[in-house]
Amino acid sequence: MQYFSTRNQNITKKPSEAILQGIADDGGLYMPESFEGAKFPMEALTKMTPKEISEAVLSLLFGRDDMFREEGSLEKAVSLAYDGKFDGEDYAPLSKVGNAHVMELYHGPTCAFKDVALQLLPRLLAEAKKVNEVKEKIVILTATSGDTGSAALSGFSDVDGVSIIVFYPKNGISAVQERQMTSCKGKNTCVCAIEGNFDDAQSGVKAIFNTMEVPENIRLSSANSINIGRLAPQVAYYFKAYGDLLKTGEIAFGDKVNFVVPTGNFGDILAGYFAMQMGLPVGKLVCASNQNSVLYDFFVTGCYDKNRDFHVTKSPSMDILISSNLERLLALVCGTEACAKYMKELKETGKYTLTKEELAAVRKVFDAGYTDDKTTFETIKRVYDEHGYLMDTHTAVAWSVYEKTLADDENKTVVLSTASAYKFASSVMNALGASYDDDFDALDKLYALTGAKIPTALDGIREKEIVHQNTVQKNDMPAFVLNHIGKE
Ligand SMILES: *Cc1c(COP(=O)(O)O)cnc(C)c1O
Repeated sequence: MQYFSTRNQNITKKPSEAILQGIADDGGLYMPESFEGAKFPMEALTKMTPKEISEAVLSLLFGRDDMFREEGSLEKAVSLAYDGKFDGEDYAPLSKVGNAHVMELYHGPTCAFKDVALQLLPRLLAEAKKVNEVKEKIVILTATSGDTGSAALSGFSDVDGVSIIVFYPKNGISAVQERQMTSCKGKNTCVCAIEGNFDDAQSGVKAIFNTMEVPENIRLSSANSINIGRLAPQVAYYFKAYGDLLKTGEIAFGDKVNFVVPTGNFGDILAGYFAMQMGLPVGKLVCASNQNSVLYDFFVTGCYDKNRDFHVTKSPSMDILISSNLERLLALVCGTEACAKYMKELKETGKYTLTKEELAAVRKVFDAGYTDDKTTFETIKRVYDEHGYLMDTHTAVAWSVYEKTLADDENKTVVLSTASAYKFASSVMNALGASYDDDFDALDKLYALTGAKIPTALDGIREKEIVHQNTVQKNDMPAFVLNHIGKE
């Protein structure tokens, strides 16, 4: 399997090079050249364990002639990523709620779905480094508004040959999220607060990538969701959900299933589209947004327009105006030439518009909806009252969009749940109309109120020792990085 740039079919790389590089030289994202040779063995699905499904997806998407040539090496990487890291054997259990099924992707070490990919990415990166005989040490640089940082720290913690530096906005994340990061014990981890907001942290990291002269023995890289190594692991759970529905008799072999996905950067839902290209019978993929409804407008009108107000919402991990991974869908549907043109327009004018035919092709599979904070809170309360099922704000956005778009659909629907209610306990408490003193107190009170199990990873988080205490001005980020890698 070769990978090509979304902006130029003729730029190709081996999978391991695409993973090492992250983004192509022309600014495009890497795509598998064809899904024809990557068809999933559907007949075997119900006999496969979750890990075997992951292994099958990875070997189909990456092939075995580049990475993981050594017998048993892929199996080992998947085991290192998932064994003992998730609450329970299954990293993506389904719960039946009303007529739909909620796929809980948050039972990992940081209680959000990013764990599924970020536990595996470091193993993929280590293998890519090995097959390309890269001698430099890889330093991962990440700016986070909460979820990515803690999931990346957990995934990269104590992985050989790689270290990680995470920047976060000092007053822009919850106390629980902050403690998850500042208590990370991995020897190769570094966490630093910025006096500023998330955009300051992110533009600071971008500037470092573009301009910093790093020592010869160091290579900077990112754990961002544009890396194909982050996307591939997510394809697996779409197959797994289908297998579970087959096993419980909810569907018959070949039936189509819908997926509703709370969306920000368009990575998670795109993984569903990849699964479909690999042979999964999918009805609709429904893109659920919060008040930052740029994707909803795009799917309705064909015009992507980021020139609009940015809303800070109660589902902060979806507060995004440029959904990077949408570029991959454009490359598949419109071709790389049109995709390059649209991305140029996006950069220059902040918008682009698909042709009628292109939009129609996209709409064959994708549907969309959006929800504001008020409806999100009402949804949390109503679903809890009616079904006794507790969901976080991101999941509630998806549930509300499910009710608007698919409640009466003939196909079965899986709603993806991307975070534990405990990760956003303060918001969930507000939604339930209950009182609490601070973020930490909200965890205990939410438990007292609902009796829902507190995830192991968040139990006792208030008492976790703070081991990272750096704060810098945004302009001092490059100096901080140089100083830190100088010590390596
Ligand atoms: C990152 C995140 C999302 C959005 O996922 P994308 O792949 O960026 O679309 C949704 N929910 C939660 C809780 C997240 O952390």
